[in-house]
Amino acid sequence: MSQQPLAPPVNTTTKRVLTRRGVVWLGQTCNLRCRFCYFQTRIEAKDHPEHPFMGLDKAKAIVDALRNHYGNNAIDIQGGEPTIYPGIEELCEHSASIGLLPTLITNALVLAKREACQRLKDSGVRDLLVSVHGLGQNYDDVVGVPGAHKKQMVALDNCVAIGMPVRFNCVLTKSSLPHLADVARLAVSVGARAVNFIAFNPFEDQQKGERSLDDVAAYGVVAPPLLAAMDVLNAAGIEVNVRYIPLCQVPEGYRQHLYNFQQLPYDLHEWDYASWSWTDMKPQRMRQGELSPLISLRQANLRSPMFKNVPGYLDDPSLSLDDEYRHSALIRAREHCGYKPAPACEHCAAKGICDGFHGDYAAFFGFGEAQAIQAAAPFTDPRHYISQQRKVVEAEDAGWAL
Ligand code: SF4
Repeated sequence: MSQQPLAPPVNTTTKRVLTRRGVVWLGQTCNLRCRFCYFQTRIEAKDHPEHPFMGLDKAKAIVDALRNHYGNNAIDIQGGEPTIYPGIEELCEHSASIGLLPTLITNALVLAKREACQRLKDSGVRDLLVSVHGLGQNYDDVVGVPGAHKKQMVALDNCVAIGMPVRFNCVLTKSSLPHLADVARLAVSVGARAVNFIAFNPFEDQQKGERSLDDVAAYGVVAPPLLAAMDVLNAAGIEVNVRYIPLCQVPEGYRQHLYNFQQLPYDLHEWDYASWSWTDMKPQRMRQGELSPLISLRQANLRSPMFKNVPGYLDDPSLSLDDEYRHSALIRAREHCGYKPAPACEHCAAKGICDGFHGDYAAFFGFGEAQAIQAAAPFTDPRHYISQQRKVVEAEDAGWAL
């Protein structure tokens, strides 16, 4: 990188509160073809109802609901690829103007043009969550576009030059593993505020049985390069989060960085399960059709076989807000993604706060890597480990209270 890095974040905290960040999917239209994309069928099929971008009025109506009904204070805007959405600047301006700080989840290729990067910053974009799933030729190969890596590096240079904050996402596919430490070094060089390493999960279109050992790696293969990359980031004081890895798969000192579904609601960079339950419904992800009626988290939980027959669930005053989020976490892990406990989980102190092994994992590799965590008493608080992690104080300048 030719530019000076951004100043590192100055303020961190160990206080964990429920996130108020929402998410919107504008449509599954993209300028890349990542082989591990969770939406690859919808990206490819132009006639899929979720493929075309929705109109700006519909996107604004979703954004308004997130702010006014769900009380969200930040939003992740994603496509497909949001930087190619017509009207993205107007949508970001609108979001920022109503108190919903916009983040774009992006491959950033469009931002290789400095003026495009500047326009987004001027429209009120809070930061970019840039998908860096490898480097060099390897990146071009996995995203299916020659020259993509080079453009992404120019885009990051532009972000540094104009003071656009960035965070990184990196999916832990087999192809990215040899590059993790270099991705971490790149994050250091551009002054990234945080880096998320994300286990390659059977989400969405990846649930359809097309995953193979070409892309999915065993936890024991993921761990060594992952820990090396985490060491690079920890040494530089950059927040590092690892999503969807069973807690026993890293040594204890690293578990403060691990976010399973039980921990996600306490990461301010993750999505509010309540508003996510609504934006995840088809009408909110499609160009056509009216928006669905708004839904509370308890109503969303009641759709699950786990809770639909629980008498009085909707109005039970003994249930706390945290309970609702924990129930949603359980539904997402077990029902939406097919996570399963391993035999060893039965005797593990962390079994109440860990998702277990992801969907199709056991069919690939079995459960042999699970190692019950020993403790005097079972852990009941999902913040047991993550409350030790120092995280960026997000948007302090915008008046967020922790
Ligand atoms: S619950 Fe199971 S997968 Fe999770 S840490 Fe314990 S043994 Fe590992």
